[in-house]
Amino acid sequence: MKYLILALLSLNALASDFPDDPLIRLLAIDSDSGIQGPTYSKIVEELKSLEESFSDYAQVVTYGKSVEGRPLSLIKIANKNIISTKAVYIGGSIHGDEYLNIEDRLPRWFLEQTATSGTILSYLNQGGVIYIAPILNPDGYDRRERENRNGVDLNRDYTVIKADVQGFKEAETRSLVEYLSRDLGSIHLEVTMDYHCCIGALLYPWSFTGPVLSSRDEKRHLVVASIMKSSIGPGVKVGTTPVILGYSAKGTSKDFYFEHFGALSFTYEGRRNKENSFFQEHTTMWEEILKNLVTL
Ligand SMILES: [Zn+2]
Repeated sequence: MKYLILALLSLNALASDFPDDPLIRLLAIDSDSGIQGPTYSKIVEELKSLEESFSDYAQVVTYGKSVEGRPLSLIKIANKNIISTKAVYIGGSIHGDEYLNIEDRLPRWFLEQTATSGTILSYLNQGGVIYIAPILNPDGYDRRERENRNGVDLNRDYTVIKADVQGFKEAETRSLVEYLSRDLGSIHLEVTMDYHCCIGALLYPWSFTGPVLSSRDEKRHLVVASIMKSSIGPGVKVGTTPVILGYSAKGTSKDFYFEHFGALSFTYEGRRNKENSFFQEHTTMWEEILKNLVTL
């Protein structure tokens, strides 16, 4: 019995990002990240209050509507008096039950940094833009479900030519990518990060079995990985989805951002029940990433 419970617990620890195995789905006691958050509407309210308080830098964008009609909102942080040349993108809760309470606190932290003379202000004053979409799947988030209300895993709904996936069939992904493509124009998207749960790992392309990055692209991704390890902790595993998670995922956001925009693109898999206590480490990481972007 003891071993059965241990086996169930270890399966449960893997459940959130092992959706494709029906046995694991069946045995999972709780597929949540274990981290509680406010309703989606409260998170949007917070973004709007930031827009008011930091009007020189913040703009809330409603880029579409979810299947159930919730507004899809992100915050764009930029120095409005400067021509934008480069950008980073941060997304969260594309799997609605993988909320970490990091991605929704980052906007306030980035904006508060504009009052200091540090790295973040320099990045913005050099034409840098920071897009943060804290909850990409609000219907799933409010229900703590992985998929959207059409039952679709949104992180398999990105067009990835190399994987032969024609995506953007769902409102949540399609409207985000339409907005980003339009708004970026010729701005270079440098780094993207989607926050997930619960493996404690940093993943880079490709998400599916077969291709590997060129050694140059892999080295550039590994620079960010080493920054993350030194900020978040040496225990963070680094690699691709097939190597670290043991399965092949086609149509993921990071493969799209890398293939389409040439961004260094990542999935961060937070740690179950406790990633929220590492907020300061995430802010250190972002500071270091922005500081080092010039050399990546
Ligand atoms: Zn996930």
